[in-house]
Amino acid sequence: MGSRRKFIKKLGVTLPALSILGVQACEAEKETKGAVSVSKKAIKPVVISTWKFGFPANEKAWETLESGGRALDAVESGVQVPESDPNVSSVGYGGLPDRDGNVTLDSCIMDESGNAGSVAFLQGIKNPIRVARLVMEKTPHVMLVGKGAQDYALSQGFKVEDLLTEKARKRWEKWKTDANYQPEINVEDHDTIGMVALDKNGDLSGACTTSGLAWKMHGRVGDSPIIGAALYVDNEVGAATATGKGEAVIKTVGAFLIVELMRQGKSPQEACEIAIQRIIDKNPGSKNFQVGYLALNKQGETGAYSIQKGFTYNEFNPDKKEQNQAEHYYETGVRTY
Ligand code: ASP
Repeated sequence: MGSRRKFIKKLGVTLPALSILGVQACEAEKETKGAVSVSKKAIKPVVISTWKFGFPANEKAWETLESGGRALDAVESGVQVPESDPNVSSVGYGGLPDRDGNVTLDSCIMDESGNAGSVAFLQGIKNPIRVARLVMEKTPHVMLVGKGAQDYALSQGFKVEDLLTEKARKRWEKWKTDANYQPEINVEDHDTIGMVALDKNGDLSGACTTSGLAWKMHGRVGDSPIIGAALYVDNEVGAATATGKGEAVIKTVGAFLIVELMRQGKSPQEACEIAIQRIIDKNPGSKNFQVGYLALNKQGETGAYSIQKGFTYNEFNPDKKEQNQAEHYYETGVRTY
């Protein structure tokens, strides 16, 4: 064991905890670990999320982070904003249906201890992220799907509601006239919310929730509820989340790949770029679809990158509340609606 490691062991703190010290610092405070008093700097909380509708979600999450709350509570409450908004046509209530007119929802959540919960192909429940958290905290499982997930939600006091709004139904009726299935690029109200956060305690969590691709086959599940695909959190390293064509994200295990790249020393930005490059290398048709990644490391540094131009994301920390366009791979291939 090297002398630095021995010294750290003597202090009784972990390497990741030490790496925070002095990096995300705004004010000094004291922490006592056993007999040794270690000078600890306060950690700046951070939250990032996907797409324009993530901005009000960030505002909600920020209330928790600013008051010293847990990142897990922040992301769970944040993503419920678009889930509950009937005008967001790609998440929760008001989401566009599959080709048979069913709104089916996919969500997952991960906490700072590596616990994970997920629901997929869930119908009739407005806030699937809350069910995913209950799966994580109250069941011995990680994932419940379909009717089993709905039955579990009912057992926990949720009620079944009709999630197909009149507006979404009309768009489905219109789509049926030519029934052309083509995942659309950068439709601002047509994508997943992925959110990852770091709290004042230095803990990371993440949540991801969607109604999935509009006009998908009945029974299709995308990347959004798949731990490691659209969401991964490792509290020693960082967290990542995804939006876009789920099939491409699943096949490259995108969020897990990004976290592992950060573990190897890549910055969040480098890790997102390498993960997008992986998709491009494996998909000759990548000019025709979008994937966007967000990453956050334990030091509060962030990264964002997408295949196509037009991926908007939101980043809040004590110094800024910003909505930005991610760096991207292709300038061309952009479709606007
Ligand atoms: N990733 C989602 C899915 O494949 C959709 C999206 O983010 O646009 O279901």
